Amino acid sequence: MKDATKCLHSGYTPKNSEPRVVPIVQSTTYVYDTTAEVASVFDEPTKSLIYSRFANPTVMAVEEKIADLEGGVGAMCTSSGQAASLLSVLNLCDAGDSFISTTEIYGGTVNLFSFTLKKLGIECIWVDKDASDEEIAKAFKPNTKLVFGETIANPALTVFDIERFAKLAHDHNVPLIIDNTFATPVLCKPIDFGADIVIHSTTKYMDGHAVQGGGVIVDSGNFDWHSGNFPGLTKPDESYHGIVYTETYGKAAYIVKARMQLMRDFGVYPAAHSAFLLNLGLETLDVRMKKYCENAMIVAEYLKNNDMVESITYPGLEDDPGYELGKKYLKGCSGVISFVMKGGKEKAMNWMDSLKMASNEVHVADIRTCVLHPASETHRQLTDEQLIAAGIEPGMIRLSVGLEDIDDILADIKQAFDKIK
Ligand SMILES: *Cc1c(COP(=O)(O)O)cnc(C)c1O
Repeated sequence: MKDATKCLHSGYTPKNSEPRVVPIVQSTTYVYDTTAEVASVFDEPTKSLIYSRFANPTVMAVEEKIADLEGGVGAMCTSSGQAASLLSVLNLCDAGDSFISTTEIYGGTVNLFSFTLKKLGIECIWVDKDASDEEIAKAFKPNTKLVFGETIANPALTVFDIERFAKLAHDHNVPLIIDNTFATPVLCKPIDFGADIVIHSTTKYMDGHAVQGGGVIVDSGNFDWHSGNFPGLTKPDESYHGIVYTETYGKAAYIVKARMQLMRDFGVYPAAHSAFLLNLGLETLDVRMKKYCENAMIVAEYLKNNDMVESITYPGLEDDPGYELGKKYLKGCSGVISFVMKGGKEKAMNWMDSLKMASNEVHVADIRTCVLHPASETHRQLTDEQLIAAGIEPGMIRLSVGLEDIDDILADIKQAFDKIK
């Protein structure tokens, strides 16, 4: 099936007389006839439903759909994108381990990696995505367990060279984890380019309507965990009566371990109702992504030719540094544009305050056009150094182009420029 069809049909196929739409199974638990049956479900917890912290039919339908769209063997939904980032790393790193990440990633992930994981004894080694292969190779330590990057970085909008980093990771026997939030599987399938694990904040384009937060981790099933680097996957798990994930679950070892250990212990699972809403968003993802790209391309061209704009970043523009990589990895560059206003922070904020239709909100990838000022809002916890490393200037505006008629989007943007002239 093609993506548009998967968006509608993957994950749920009703049988005779069953509901057409994925039902909301609003139940925390599942009933069995005998105690022995409950006991046997505990022995093989992925075979049947026990308790909705582990699995829920509505959530499972969405997980299967996303795994299918990304081309993975399995997926696990979480209650937020942050939870997905956290668990994707904790599933491989223990205290005393390290991992490598590029600096151009989402600000919340920077905080998680720099501060919170550090408190847990896990070190993030930052690398510049443009550093040479030799320099990046030097960053690996014997305790390094994974490499992390974002397909289209939020908010820097740089394009990540997935194949290059996959090769660097694999040369060092560790997997590559990609945050594919901005591209979504409609615009990029990182697994096709060698990524091993893909994560998302489903709060963004996948939900698309700004109605619920969520995250997901997808396992490609491609990584061979047997290098000796990953005893958590290849040695008995004491906390699950000695199960060896690679032996029992084969290609799905990583994602089953994430569920059986980390979801069990952290409990960051989505509500069935949230999964239902996410599924509605996913049903139109293919159509929406194409339209976001189309609208944003027109807005990007307009901003590029506006003399009040100092610079613009949108990988769809031919002179953008991400253009070549974008052509290789992306079927479109999403609806998110960032640009730097001449006159810096104050002018940027004035322009944003002059918009009539586009909303000023801490969100991105909404169905409605919205704007955000990273330096004073989402990224205000970062130091100046971290801001620069994340590619953020004081006059930078992140514009998330929505699905309104392009004439109305342009009219709003133009009248805001007229006001601040
Ligand atoms: C928003 C975002 C996150 C965090 O997701 P939440 O759902 O807000 O927790 C992670 N990565 C990227 C790229 C994001 O845009």
